[in-house]
Amino acid sequence: MITPGRAVVVGGSLGGLIAANLLLRAGWDVEIHERAADPLAGRGAGIVTHPELLEVLACAGVDVSAGLGVHVPARLALGLDGAVIGEIPLPQLLTSWSSVFAKLRAAFPNDRYHAGSIVREYENRPDGVRVSFTDGTTQIADLLVGADGIRSTIRRSIRPDVEPQYAGYIAWRGTADEAELSARTRDTLFDRFAFCLPPSEQMLGYPIAGDGDLVEAGRRRFNFVWYRPVDDAALRAMMTARDGRHYPDGIPPHLVEPQWPGQAREDALRLLAPQFVEVVQCAKHLFFQPIYDLASPTLVDGRVVLLGDAAFVARPHCGMGVTKAGGDAAALVRVLAEESTLPRALAVYEVERLAFGTLVLEHARHLGAYMQAQVRTDEERAMAERYRDVDRILRETAVASDVLVAAIQNP
Ligand SMILES: Cc1cc2nc3c(=O)[nH]c(=O)nc-3n(C[C@H](O)[C@H](O)[C@H](O)COP(=O)(O)OP(=O)(O)OC[C@H]3O[C@@H](n4cnc5c(N)ncnc54)[C@H](O)[C@@H]3O)c2cc1C
Repeated sequence: MITPGRAVVVGGSLGGLIAANLLLRAGWDVEIHERAADPLAGRGAGIVTHPELLEVLACAGVDVSAGLGVHVPARLALGLDGAVIGEIPLPQLLTSWSSVFAKLRAAFPNDRYHAGSIVREYENRPDGVRVSFTDGTTQIADLLVGADGIRSTIRRSIRPDVEPQYAGYIAWRGTADEAELSARTRDTLFDRFAFCLPPSEQMLGYPIAGDGDLVEAGRRRFNFVWYRPVDDAALRAMMTARDGRHYPDGIPPHLVEPQWPGQAREDALRLLAPQFVEVVQCAKHLFFQPIYDLASPTLVDGRVVLLGDAAFVARPHCGMGVTKAGGDAAALVRVLAEESTLPRALAVYEVERLAFGTLVLEHARHLGAYMQAQVRTDEERAMAERYRDVDRILRETAVASDVLVAAIQNP
């Protein structure tokens, strides 16, 4: 076992909070530095959970028995006319980004969470890792955890050659209040994880808790994610604000030209089952996220380690982002307890998490191939064909990692 020392976690979102909570409970003197000065909120809307995420959250200090979201017993797919064209039993717990964030944040001491604190760079030294901040201050730590997301500063130091690759499609996301939906839509969509599959596109959605984490019928929300192919030129236009400024790393939602969500709402009328048309029309905020693949072949540099989206970003079809970040954090804390030296512990971590990250990334690429604006390789073409099948989509999208591994091993 490595004697717990001082750990600095860069990034105070879900990955950073899980890691910091676990390290704290393992005896580490840990502090989080989060770039955003204002409280993080509402990002990402719905989150699919898996049993392994609930286990990690419990270890991180979250009372999962107090209820984390909405349980559904089954999945269904709707045809364009709104009729059910496929259904399978698949119990799942659906939660929201804000609900998980609030619980993890409450489990972590306020005086150790530094909002508005931006890490600029690090340097491995004989006495520890020296962390430099944009305000000119520095700190020495025994361990630096890069949980700073897809555009990670820490990863860019370790692997400047690794950048997110745009997958050729975007996700429109939003939520609609249950109380505003018609009886038909509520009856079909609530209590289910639902899909609709227009050509080369995919709409999915599920109920999540409403305001105040309320899960009673009538108080919930329906969260949806609508994947649509968008080529590079069109994406550039969508990520350019009215004043002509282009935001390649993500355009703030309030700067998106209204024509883009307007167009999506109009297209919904033509392409989606009536129940999904209604949730899109009722959503107060419709925002989009480009879908990326990212895999860092290196996760460790001296006393520095990457986890969560900083290390790997799989397309969201596995619904695994937070679960993988939690699995990374749990693996890190486990190897620190099991191994006798830090280099050995981080080497074991790297091998294990590279293998898992690669598995999720590849499977998510396969699940998403049929939505790409351009299918580039024979493998992508084969996968695009394979995942046009309604039953496969219902069985393999956003499932627990043991089901995912079985699907990959027995195609
Ligand atoms: C359409 C879509 C649907 C999804 N659905 C699901 C789902 O159903 N289930 C699921 O598990 N996952 C889902 N995900 C993925 C999930 O949202 C992410 O995998 C997860 O939030 C990653 O968390 P993270 O903490 O690693 O990174 P992030 O949430 O990106 O956090 C990184 C943090 O680091 C901070 N930061 C960055 N640089 C610095 C710096 N230099 N100094 C200090 N702080 C810094 C940032 O401000 C940020 O708060 C989905 C993603 C998308 C796009």
